[in-house]
Amino acid sequence: MNQRWRLIALWLLPIGMVLLLTWQILGNSQVNSIKANNDSIAPRNTAIARMSYGRFLDYVDAGRVTAVDIYNGGTNAVVEAVDPELDNRVQRIRVDLPGLAPELITRLKDEGISFDIHPERKTPPALGIAGNLLFPIFLIGGLILLARRSNSMPGGPGQAMQFGKTKARFAMEAETGVKFDDVAGVSEAKQDLQEVVTFLKQPERFTSIGAQIPKGVLLIGPPGTGKTLLAKAIAGEAGVPFFSLSGSEFVEMFVGVGASRVRDLFKRAKENSPCLIFIDEIDAVGRQRGAGIGGGNDEREQTLNQLLTEMDGFEGNSGIIIIAATNRPDVLDSALMRPGRFDRQVSVDAPDIKGRLSILKVHSRNKKLSENLSLENIARRTPGFTGADLANLLNEAAILTARRRKDSISLSEIDDAVDRIIAGMEGQPLTDGKSKRLIAYHEVGHALIGTLVKDHDPVQKVTLIPRGQAKGLTWFSPDDDQMLVTRAQLEARIMGALGGRAAEDVIFGRQEVTTGAGGDIQQVASMARQMVTRFGMSKLGPVSLEGDSQEVFLGRDLMTRNDISDSIARQIDEQVRQMVMNSYEKTLNIVKENREAMDKLVEVLIDKETMDGEEFKNILAKFTDVPEKERTVASLS
Ligand code: ADP
Ligand code: MG
Ligand code: ZN
Repeated sequence: MNQRWRLIALWLLPIGMVLLLTWQILGNSQVNSIKANNDSIAPRNTAIARMSYGRFLDYVDAGRVTAVDIYNGGTNAVVEAVDPELDNRVQRIRVDLPGLAPELITRLKDEGISFDIHPERKTPPALGIAGNLLFPIFLIGGLILLARRSNSMPGGPGQAMQFGKTKARFAMEAETGVKFDDVAGVSEAKQDLQEVVTFLKQPERFTSIGAQIPKGVLLIGPPGTGKTLLAKAIAGEAGVPFFSLSGSEFVEMFVGVGASRVRDLFKRAKENSPCLIFIDEIDAVGRQRGAGIGGGNDEREQTLNQLLTEMDGFEGNSGIIIIAATNRPDVLDSALMRPGRFDRQVSVDAPDIKGRLSILKVHSRNKKLSENLSLENIARRTPGFTGADLANLLNEAAILTARRRKDSISLSEIDDAVDRIIAGMEGQPLTDGKSKRLIAYHEVGHALIGTLVKDHDPVQKVTLIPRGQAKGLTWFSPDDDQMLVTRAQLEARIMGALGGRAAEDVIFGRQEVTTGAGGDIQQVASMARQMVTRFGMSKLGPVSLEGDSQEVFLGRDLMTRNDISDSIARQIDEQVRQMVMNSYEKTLNIVKENREAMDKLVEVLIDKETMDGEEFKNILAKFTDVPEKERTVASLS
């Protein structure tokens, strides 16, 4: 309630201001119409002289009037008159007229005085008020917008009006305070970049023997792997200022703004050399010129050209090094990669298990972990996590710990945080009923296939507690950082994904299957399709039938999709269908053979809501043979 009032008050304030302004503007409307027609006339309150109509006639007689501008249907005028006593200096004087008298016009004509009648701008009164209202609304709206934008900028509100002159649009940090020690798990990239630190710190070591210091380094890697952090660490290690700007900020609504931003950035950098310029998301400006649907984008191309010009314009030894980051090197304009520009490329990949462990060490420095919590275990549980994910994981776990009023982070908080990051927030448990039973069978179906098919990743746990979009979940633990996936594994995954639907089908009947399997089926289709078109795992043989780019709209990929014939496309569809149907047959059979075990497992699951993989396996083993799965466990020495 309280908040509501505050909101109303917040709205009343600008409306009051609008009304006040309108009042004033209406009062001044006469002046306004003069001002509007002739910009050079100062408004009433600044010094413009007035004289009477009679005196004006005297001036005409004396031949001192050179020009007359008549406004408002002849009710007032601005007169240009010369003053013989002051070297014939021209004065502008306002006169109130009795109306547009024909005699006056004849008189002016006879005297050869140039005159002009400015038409009265007739606006219907309502519209006039509306116009007057709209203006302040826009103005106020505009001001609020500008103020908000500028708040987030280090330069402060004063610079918000300088479009294009964008001192405030890039950030400068004199000291980043980040060191290489703060970046973990990317040792190869760090080694490559160590050299850049030396370039910045002791350029003479290279220049004295005639070596050209490289100007640009391109960091390539998926989001969250620590590219920004690495760039900051370089500046921090070298002790130089860090200028940063994101590629998407270059691209503005107005053509030319981006280019002038680039100019400004380089100007400031030169004043502060040695220094480091960091351009994040360079693909936003650095896309292939002239590419994409509808041809190029003028603004982006101008910006890119300016960037290239600036990079060519400074000497390699001027103490400025530019580091750019992207996760889409494939769309970059090749001109960017030429020698003398971003000719060094360093890839920053998602960390492996050792990398994850060392990142966890960095981020747990300032956190309280309970004694029996091993970071190795967390690293094992999180294949595919990037540095940012891991930092987020520890933070979420710390928040959960605080919420549970514990004083150190334990495994259960870590587990919950992992689940939350992968699958979303936990929801309320379902109430017992038919749909809960159906979901239980569905999940048990996934877990059953996961446990019984030898090549499937082992089941970690099955749960009926909803999370994110899912009503129930079966978790599998994939092998530690397995780089390559076999055909048998892919087929097993397809069967596992179909396990949910197969269980619904067998237990509840073909008419009772639900939309809950939609996500599974989509996944199945995509896996099967890739097996056919990318991995050469079908009857069509080891032929690549599709590029790996899915984004038709970006960069240069536009035209590369149509290079397969209709007949091949039909064969692909046929293969995908066959593969999925075969897998579904096999899955149905496994479910049918294990009906009794499933009933038992569902009973336990509904009772406990969550069951771990080990328990699932033990119950299942009472009914049928369960294959052992050997895992390769990466060593962590
Ligand atoms: P990117 O620029 O590659 O998208 P960032 O450098 O912005 O990723 O990373 C975001 C955050 O994630 C960092 O501030 C840091 O806390 C954490 N992080 C990412 N990678 C690492 C890493 N290799 N070592 C330590 N922390 C990392
Ligand atoms: Mg970044
Ligand atoms: Zn499912």
